[in-house]
Amino acid sequence: MDEGWLRAPLSLAGKRIWVAGHAGMVGSAVCRALAGESCEVLMVSRDRLDLREQADVRAWMKAHRPDVIVLAAARVGGIGANAAYPADFYHDNLMISANVIHGAYACGVEKLLFLGSSCIYPKDADLPIAPDALLRGVLEPTNEAYALAKIAGLKMAQAYRAQHGCDFISAMPCNLYGPGDRYDLRGSHVIPALMMKAHEAARRGDDVLSVWGSGAPLREFLYVDDLAAALVFLLKYYSGSAPVNVGSGDEISIGDLARKVADVVGFRGGLVFDCSQPDGVYRKVMDSSVIKKAGWLPQISLDCGLGLAYADFCQMAFGEIKTAAVAES
Ligand code: GDP
Repeated sequence: MDEGWLRAPLSLAGKRIWVAGHAGMVGSAVCRALAGESCEVLMVSRDRLDLREQADVRAWMKAHRPDVIVLAAARVGGIGANAAYPADFYHDNLMISANVIHGAYACGVEKLLFLGSSCIYPKDADLPIAPDALLRGVLEPTNEAYALAKIAGLKMAQAYRAQHGCDFISAMPCNLYGPGDRYDLRGSHVIPALMMKAHEAARRGDDVLSVWGSGAPLREFLYVDDLAAALVFLLKYYSGSAPVNVGSGDEISIGDLARKVADVVGFRGGLVFDCSQPDGVYRKVMDSSVIKKAGWLPQISLDCGLGLAYADFCQMAFGEIKTAAVAES
């Protein structure tokens, strides 16, 4: 096996596992994946603990004593949110990483899993992107703040392993989607944004759907429950310094993706490409062969996952309508 893979898995049974960011798309999928592990899942809401506040994080960790942490909390957003709020992306992500990683060391946490993203890699990295491409080139400017904050977190996890012997590991997922995604047109990533737009366009009977950029960029997508299964797999079987890429390996152009989303939603009109909006990096498919060779494989195809994501979107949208109707009555 490659360096860092354990012959005997770490048992999660009976462990107190803190899913930091449990309410987000990734965190809630991790909670679902941990449900079968006979462990105790710790969660704390954002109202009760602001992860950007060092003293509060330390006090909470001392009081609740997690054995394992999955650090899924982050300020995330699509290409529009990254361009509009770079200071927030730096500040929040640096603070969350520093507070939770140092707190995990100070509280003697047994294992921590830090989550990054494929955007940490240089924009001109050789494809598919392997972890050793890190810091070998210039970053994609449309998400530089998020990427640099995540690189700092990943390097910090490595430094605590090197200096203090902490079992801190990192995973780098490709573009994610699925239940619990963020649906707001300016801040969302491409799949939830297109789903919302196509849903509204179908409802109104529009002739065209506007897609940002040229439609040519290629992206690799992974359904979030497949990622969560990979993260539980890494907690059990991986204990190395190198970040582990987690992707489907399948690329699709934004234009083809938009057509698929339109079909799922039942939008029969045409697509128009709004080239006043940024394309971002052209391709960023990752080399995820390390985790695939070790035994994890994605289970949910893009077609199936888009259907599941749309069902979640509809449930959320109908919930909103109901709430609004109750409020008015
Ligand atoms: P990225 O992978 O970091 O670039 O993040 P996004 O998911 O925000 O964008 C992926 C690609 O989808 C980019 O080329 C966007 O221009 C394109 N895209 C097309 N329509 C939309 C949209 O409505 N919202 C977003 N966020 N991206 C879109």
